[in-house]
Amino acid sequence: MKPLLTILTPGYAHQGNGDTYVASPTCSLLQYNDKNYIIDPACNPELLLSALTKHSLATNDIHAIFLTHYHLDHLLNIRLFPHTPLYDGSMKWDSDNETPYTDYWLTPEFKVLHTPGHASEQYSLLVDTENYGLVCIAQDVFWWEDGKQRSDTVSDLLDLVDPFAANTTELRASRQLVLESGATWIIPGHGTIFKNPYNG
Ligand SMILES: [Zn+2]
Repeated sequence: MKPLLTILTPGYAHQGNGDTYVASPTCSLLQYNDKNYIIDPACNPELLLSALTKHSLATNDIHAIFLTHYHLDHLLNIRLFPHTPLYDGSMKWDSDNETPYTDYWLTPEFKVLHTPGHASEQYSLLVDTENYGLVCIAQDVFWWEDGKQRSDTVSDLLDLVDPFAANTTELRASRQLVLESGATWIIPGHGTIFKNPYNG
């Protein structure tokens, strides 16, 4: 059986009271060969813990965590997993032990794409899943404020304005890479999973 994908908590982003902003990214669960992996644990502990409970999982059942980039909204919840190995797109972190890796994360089924631009160090995962087909988890390569998602055309997606982008030229190239990855579905950082228009 191929990896099983579950969107544990969909990403959101909106204005809060006064000058506050309320945002947490998509947190995805990949289950493969009896192991459970989290992609970006996000920053709302109550939401994540209740989503895990709903899927009969405890924090101890998570075998590894992948961080797409170092924006705190994507990673604050690592506090819930003090003993779980952490990976960014090129390094494993286990206490003060750093082990570099390339091409894929843990298994050839989890292919790593280097997708900088929104942040300077940023990675996406391309996974052929049992339940969605080929999916690209492209956290913040694409993202929207709530209710503003426009995913109907390739040009809309390439030209999407990201006020937090570190490098818009790199970001556009990364978007092109994700769109051309062959993925049927794309998971954005904030907003709901959408069908890749590049595939027709
Ligand atoms: Zn971000």
